[in-house]
Amino acid sequence: MTTQSGEFSLEAKYTQERGRIYLSGIQALVRLPLDQHRADRRRGLNTATFISGYRGSPLGGLDQALWRAKKFLDQHHVVFQPGVNEDLAATALWGSQQVNLFRGAKYDGVFGLWYGKGPGVDRCGDVFRHANACGTSKYGGVLACAGDDHAAKSSTLPHQTDHIFKAVMMPVLYPAAVQEYLELLDAIRARNLDASLSIKPTQCGLMLGEEVYWRSTETILDRVRSMGGFLWMDMEGSRFTDATLAVYRRALAEYPEVGVAVQANLRRTEADVASLLEIGGIVRLVKGAYREPPPVGTANRHETDANYRKILDLLFERGDRFAVGSHDSAMIEYAIEKNRTRPRRFEIQMLLGVRDPLKTDLSRRGHRVVEFIPYGPNWLPYFTRRLRERPRNILTMVRSFVSG
Ligand SMILES: Cc1cc2nc3c(=O)[nH]c(=O)nc-3n(C[C@H](O)[C@H](O)[C@H](O)COP(=O)(O)OP(=O)(O)OC[C@H]3O[C@@H](n4cnc5c(N)ncnc54)[C@H](O)[C@@H]3O)c2cc1C
Repeated sequence: MTTQSGEFSLEAKYTQERGRIYLSGIQALVRLPLDQHRADRRRGLNTATFISGYRGSPLGGLDQALWRAKKFLDQHHVVFQPGVNEDLAATALWGSQQVNLFRGAKYDGVFGLWYGKGPGVDRCGDVFRHANACGTSKYGGVLACAGDDHAAKSSTLPHQTDHIFKAVMMPVLYPAAVQEYLELLDAIRARNLDASLSIKPTQCGLMLGEEVYWRSTETILDRVRSMGGFLWMDMEGSRFTDATLAVYRRALAEYPEVGVAVQANLRRTEADVASLLEIGGIVRLVKGAYREPPPVGTANRHETDANYRKILDLLFERGDRFAVGSHDSAMIEYAIEKNRTRPRRFEIQMLLGVRDPLKTDLSRRGHRVVEFIPYGPNWLPYFTRRLRERPRNILTMVRSFVSG
């Protein structure tokens, strides 16, 4: 590897602070506490890192990489102590978050890094649940890295740990999701497809904070911009609405070809859409897939439908370009009717496997119809949400999964 000064050095992956470096995923985990320490130092904080866990593929080589990097770990106050087992390691990390409960602590905060594979996550349930409920110290924080083995390549049984983290209420970051989005964009470009991506905020780090979501979005947006494409952002439960819209506004300020979903089952949405239209926002109006009781949400389907129509009125009045995301003929026909007197650039978006004959009919009538294709390992929650909305969907969806 060539350093900024032009010399060749294998150490640059840990020492170089600007420009491009090349490292493996395991080396990225070794570098993480070094960067955290550098960032803390810049903020005037005196922090340290404690790493503990238990080896096992695919994180099998982490301990060796840490031992090899000892010189750098020492320079950045990183202590690495492999655990006797995963739950003792997790318990020790829990202790690292209690640093400020006692007087005379040496550090302002300790960043903790736990690692293990699927069975290790299973046995840590109790520690994870309690440690997570206790929280972290002000300048601390813990990242738990779990090595999943979905195909049981080196385990007795397959493993997918996100459900366990969800059960113990630990926020999950999917760095793989951002990478997959980037690869998907490359595939779209390589095949020259008329397609765009709709990203899910919590899969891009929103549960870890607005800033994390923004950074993931920025990375994806850079790629979208380089190919002259369009990026949609999904909207999730109402506790994420403010942060999602804030990140949307930031994205729109950088690149005009970006849109966000808004939900008619939230009473705030009309006002949100009005203010988004003032800055040239592009919205996809949906009914909303998350249960939102009043006063945040609407009281029933009738109120949601009435709100949907009201927001369509607003879009046709003050908007120029938007999407109608619905399978409901009543909403779609309402939009088509409005378009007769006020022609606008709008498209109708529907999900894969739902109302296929209607899609054909609408496109024959000259409307732009876009089909959403959900994919990836997290299809199950998506599928159950659709089923809850309309149990009859099972037939059409199973048919579409089976046929392709
Ligand atoms: C492209 C797209 C993107 C979405 N993105 C988001 C998002 O980011 N965030 C979010 O919260 N939600 C999202 N949703 C989901 C959305 O919020 C609704 O939960 C979902 O679309 C169901 O509402 P609906 O408007 O389709 O009509 P519903 O209220 O479910 O259905 C109304 C009527 O439509 C007809 N209908 C519906 N399905 C069928 C069918 N299979 N066959 C025949 N008739 C049918 C029936 O007449 C039914 O009575 C999205 C939906 C779509 C289509």
